[in-house]
Amino acid sequence: MFVGKYERTAKNKKEESEVYEEYKKEIVEYGRKILNSNHVVGTSGNISVRIGNTSLFAITPSGMPYEELTVDDIPIIDVKGERIEGTKKPSIEVRMHGLIYEHYPDVRAIVHTHSVYTTVLSLIRKPLPIINETMVMVGDVPVAEFARTGSLELAENVTKALKGRRAVILANHGLLCVGKSLKESFALCEEIERDAQIYVLALSTGMSVHIIPEEEAKKTREWLSKNYGQ
Ligand code: 13P
Ligand code: ZN
Repeated sequence: MFVGKYERTAKNKKEESEVYEEYKKEIVEYGRKILNSNHVVGTSGNISVRIGNTSLFAITPSGMPYEELTVDDIPIIDVKGERIEGTKKPSIEVRMHGLIYEHYPDVRAIVHTHSVYTTVLSLIRKPLPIINETMVMVGDVPVAEFARTGSLELAENVTKALKGRRAVILANHGLLCVGKSLKESFALCEEIERDAQIYVLALSTGMSVHIIPEEEAKKTREWLSKNYGQ
């Protein structure tokens, strides 16, 4: 598959566009999913997916309602931020997505939401700890240092906090999950938001909240990896 800059002829442009089409469809589909599952309202949040093994990705356009998106609205961008295809301006967080793809070659899809309970944790600057067996598998979720929406600083803070992790809480903002596919990144946001809800409710009782110690979490992780599921 094509990577980076090279001369685009009419023929390879058409072939590339056909490849991009599948990824754009996925962006439209998962945009509706984050809206319909209440992880965002209006035009907040953004999602992207890497095009195969390349340094290119498809991303939601900035400030457009998810329910109105069509494949023609989805721009294709390279990790340095150059628009390769499409007429719409990419998400304001395009640098955050680009920097993550650049730093973490294994990341194939990114979902950024404004999920309510995770955002509550972001206001009180509390990472989501290992509270149950789901979080044993995910690991704790740190809060990246605050920076303004759309800034390069936010992109850098989030990329740094993501080292060795699959999700990061954005201070006074929301959640970002990465994975090998949009399906995986979206499912992770769902899990984390549910566990953030449980944790916030536990904290709000005012009673002491117990978390699973790291040593026990490690043993449980090994046990589940060998025994859970079919
Ligand atoms: P965009 O519509 O530009 O993606 O912005 C939404 C958002 O969540 C910014 O953090
Ligand atoms: Zn946001």
